Amino acid sequence: MEKISVVVPCFNEQEALPLFYIEICKVADLLKPLDFEFIFISDGSKDNTIQIMKKLNEQDPRVHYVSFSRNFGKEAAIYAGLKKSTGDYVVLMDVDLQDPPCLISKMYDSIKNDGYDCVATRRVNREGEPRIRSFFAKCFYKLINQISDTEFVDGARDYRMMKRQMVDAVLEMSEYNRFSKGIFSWVGFEVKWLEYVNEQRIAGETKWSFWKLFLYSLDGIIAFSTVPLSMASYMGILLCFVAFVLILFIIAKTLIWGDPTSGWPSLICIISLIGGLQMLCIGVLGHYLSRTYLETKKRPIYIVKEEK
Ligand code: UDP
Ligand code: MG
Repeated sequence: MEKISVVVPCFNEQEALPLFYIEICKVADLLKPLDFEFIFISDGSKDNTIQIMKKLNEQDPRVHYVSFSRNFGKEAAIYAGLKKSTGDYVVLMDVDLQDPPCLISKMYDSIKNDGYDCVATRRVNREGEPRIRSFFAKCFYKLINQISDTEFVDGARDYRMMKRQMVDAVLEMSEYNRFSKGIFSWVGFEVKWLEYVNEQRIAGETKWSFWKLFLYSLDGIIAFSTVPLSMASYMGILLCFVAFVLILFIIAKTLIWGDPTSGWPSLICIISLIGGLQMLCIGVLGHYLSRTYLETKKRPIYIVKEEK
């Protein structure tokens, strides 16, 4: 019998987890002859999440869990879950029921009958989200699609079903700085997109602050584009050209009118502008260097405290 693994990262989700378990069991019942396994990853939860997982594991042989030694982030939790999964198909979803479990049977159908390797989901609206966050999200997708060869779909969720072959491809990308949206797109395969309207979280609170999302988007840009690195050279060429024209202009002006000391304020402006640009470029270099530094250390993506 074919098996579906459901991988669920959880970070302080004691309220949502029991509700999620009820819903996912309904789906498993509906797809009855198919085998299921549920893999919960506690990403360093400080509340009762891990106790709930243990209890579910004792009650239900389909439930497995991995508990991290501290919070390693959702990306690490996804990696651990995919690694632990043994099914022919793997579903990746959040525990807060923002990813409607009823889509699983649709996903399975598409993979089974239409020959897709992966069925992914995207939100068609961002209702219930702060306006400013939606605005920056839009800008981020525009920017990254301009400067990266990898395609990023606006509103794409991590919620998806993949064939084993694709899961293995994702697992082979063992980089330390993980940006799943990019990784799933980078590995390729035939992907079908299902669309649905945004749902509110069932319980608990979002774990993403604006600042955390901002840093995460920088991670994405750095991981999937090297265009910012070449920015310095382009700006350098442009500024050299401007400087050359200015020099010619000033020489001509001094020869014709004299007056060598005026223009001091404009000089200061230009010095600050160029200083700022240089700092910016050094900063960009620093970001790439720091990621390279972390990658070369070959630290593990996560550390397991307990698993079953
Ligand atoms: N999550 C995680 N580690 C983290 C942050 C979040 O495993 O450091 C999990 C969280 O428990 C949830 C999923 O990732 O299952 C999505 O998180 P959340 O709902 O807070 O994000 P949002 O839906 O607001 O983007
Ligand atoms: Mg959520």
